[in-house]
Amino acid sequence: MTTLLSVRDVETWYGPVRALHGVGLEVHAGQIVTVLGANGAGKTTLLNTIAGVVSPHKGSIRLDGEEIGGLDADAVCRSGVVLVPEGRQVFPFLSVSENLAMGAFARRSDPAVRRDVDQIYEWFPRLQERHRQPAGQLSGGEQQMLAIGRAYMAKPRLLLLDEPSLGLSPLFTKEVFAIVRRIREQAGIAVLVVEQNASIALNTADHGYVLELGRVAASASCEALRQRADIKDFYLGAS
Ligand code: ATP
Repeated sequence: MTTLLSVRDVETWYGPVRALHGVGLEVHAGQIVTVLGANGAGKTTLLNTIAGVVSPHKGSIRLDGEEIGGLDADAVCRSGVVLVPEGRQVFPFLSVSENLAMGAFARRSDPAVRRDVDQIYEWFPRLQERHRQPAGQLSGGEQQMLAIGRAYMAKPRLLLLDEPSLGLSPLFTKEVFAIVRRIREQAGIAVLVVEQNASIALNTADHGYVLELGRVAASASCEALRQRADIKDFYLGAS
């Protein structure tokens, strides 16, 4: 398998607080990888560090062998790593279709943009029905779909999803993860997803990492993680 993203020995600090203590992780081309961890474990910091929202103080982040660690968020996005941040952050006063167009701002002259919008509407018919509506009027689940659609418009090779199920009903959560699978299957896009809902994350992803206090405490196939008694007790709430 080809390594798409390789994170090695990454440290990130907020002033005097070290949030990541030498984290390493890999995502292969076309793979779905999940990161589990308790509140404050450093999951968001890890995604934000990869996405260039915060800078690592140490370590390396390579995409297809090219160093992207320390680039700003715009440059990381142009390299093909696109973040869907926690809380979605769609543009509330822009319509659904305008939000999608914003995702493609760097590729305005690309004739494939229209085709990609159609693809999103096929994946998310609800967005097509509401394409003229301001994004702020959509439900939380619909906004999450729009945020993923907008990220898709940037032509990612790797999607970073931060807590996509946050605040969503179980039904919407299932829909969002079904779309994550379709994006991988139909578009070959790799996904690194941070998720509190360990059950759906471990059932969707191929490989999982567990972060504890800014360190990788476990790395294994999701199938293996699902069998582990400590993971069942702590993350799956059942044995
Ligand atoms: P949660 O599941 O609660 O979102 P998380 O695993 O995503 O948690 P982070 O948000 O990455 O964890 O936080 C990791 C550590 O870094 C925590 O100790 C947190 O208090 C600290 N931290 C996060 N953001 C900042 C910031 N902007 N300034 C200072 N400390 C921060």
